[in-house]
Amino acid sequence: MDIKYSGPVCEFETAEPCGIVIFGASGDLTKRKLLPALFELYKRSRIPSKFFITGVARSGLNDGSFRELVASAIEKVAEKSSDRKKAEFLDRCFYVSGQYDDPDTYKKLKSLNEKLSRKFKTDSNIIFNIATPPSLYGIIVKKLSEAKLVKKGQNNTPFQRVIVEKPFGRDFNSAVALNKELLSYLDDEQIYRIDHYLGKDTVQNILAFRFANLIFENVWNRNFIDHVQITVSEELGVGHRAGYFDNSGLVRDMLQNHMLQLLALVAMEPPSKFDAELIRDEKVKVMKAIRPFKDISSPSTIIRGQYKEGAIKGEQVKSYRDEDGVSKNSSTETFVATRLFIDNVRWEGVPFYMRAGKALKEKKTQITIVFKEVPHSMFVKDIKENPLEPNVLIFGIQPEQGVFLKYQAKAPGSKMCLYPLDMDFNYADVYGSELSDDYETLLLDCMIGDQTLFWSKKGVEVSWDLITPILREWDKSSFDDKKIKLFFYEAGTWGPDEADDFIKNDGRKWIVK
Ligand code: NDP
Repeated sequence: MDIKYSGPVCEFETAEPCGIVIFGASGDLTKRKLLPALFELYKRSRIPSKFFITGVARSGLNDGSFRELVASAIEKVAEKSSDRKKAEFLDRCFYVSGQYDDPDTYKKLKSLNEKLSRKFKTDSNIIFNIATPPSLYGIIVKKLSEAKLVKKGQNNTPFQRVIVEKPFGRDFNSAVALNKELLSYLDDEQIYRIDHYLGKDTVQNILAFRFANLIFENVWNRNFIDHVQITVSEELGVGHRAGYFDNSGLVRDMLQNHMLQLLALVAMEPPSKFDAELIRDEKVKVMKAIRPFKDISSPSTIIRGQYKEGAIKGEQVKSYRDEDGVSKNSSTETFVATRLFIDNVRWEGVPFYMRAGKALKEKKTQITIVFKEVPHSMFVKDIKENPLEPNVLIFGIQPEQGVFLKYQAKAPGSKMCLYPLDMDFNYADVYGSELSDDYETLLLDCMIGDQTLFWSKKGVEVSWDLITPILREWDKSSFDDKKIKLFFYEAGTWGPDEADDFIKNDGRKWIVK
């Protein structure tokens, strides 16, 4: 489909003056995502010059060495920027070294923030971005409150907001407890729970596609859709996050958050207007309608896998159990496949197949909507030899970003031969490099005060409520008793054979574009 876009690229709102404090400022997320995103926003004037960044961590850095860390973190995105812009950005970076539970850290931070707020005229607006291990989220917010750096209800003039990274809790009880703890120091509207998938243009496009185009909404239900597949595959193994991952697993790391968010966007009802609270409420409603898991120990309900050694794109990959930081007899899953049903009028009986894994053949996140076959076809002769394939609609989230529709067409020639063709819309072809980075979108939204793309309190609890029985069942059965089967797969494949049988037994197959 040859679409050439000639309209304007969506204008961004500009943030209000503010300071941003990053806890865990010496860490991986800060270097790889937060600092590049903040520089990019600054470079494009989406955050004003009335702005500063304070890094907080235990590492013994000072303003000078933190600026070196910042300079190296933004090197790639700043390649084409003027030296002046880079220097301006670095001049706005400061550092406080201290323990996360030490009141002294917060005393130093308070006095620095007050000084910087005056210097950069940020009107005392402040965002605390907590990018530390999750066990520290609660204590940091408590200490911020005790030091009067945040006050419950202070969401405007000046605003005091807190961004919390994923994972939000380890299971239902811990997520409820964390919500309760944060809500004793902050109002819910001051808490921004990140799921970075929601910051992607391609993910937000699901709502535009469904609700701004009349033709799709009419077929978006059990009468026309046979099933839905959501695949999140990664080429990488666990790498430097092995220690964290071995204690977590793929169900916690992917299914509970990113994948359920994608499902909610595909399946939710349209709210009456594009409003953060209404959208988040609709997502909660559809997640609440997901049928609870039954017979969790059975491979006909969930397939769990773990990668063995193999090769990905010619590179040798060691087995999961040989990764540094992973226990030699770990039974943590690096692959999961399951099937969900949504018990409501729109989706009754339509399976949502979910598949995610690490060290798989390709990096790919996509949502595939498989429509039903035509009820009756006049192309009888052709169908006998070569049955008509149903329409398939794919939302490419990454690395392909776009929407792809497979449909039947007549092939050239005297005979009526039908062949499936693709109608492709690729973001990159149409918008070039204008696609925004997920963290840029989310950080800017927090500065503007827009909660649409963040998890709500209820959302996070409902998703854990669905997932926790699986985790409980696995935790209580030892690996040795083989009650909870772990299927091994070679790195660089599409996961264990049992995952193929899982969908094949339903008369379907995994589809990858
Ligand atoms: P890191 O492990 O790099 O930790 C961040 C910083 O926290 C470290 O630099 C360290 O700073 C401090 N820290 C680490 N371990 C401890 C500890 N046991 N006790 C006290 N302080 C500690 O984490 P990431 O940057 O990778 O991730 C930060 C958060 O973001 C996590 O919650 C993670 O789940 C989440 N996240 C990360 C992603 C990523 O790609 N990295 C992706 C999605 C979410 P110092 O020692 O200087 O205090």
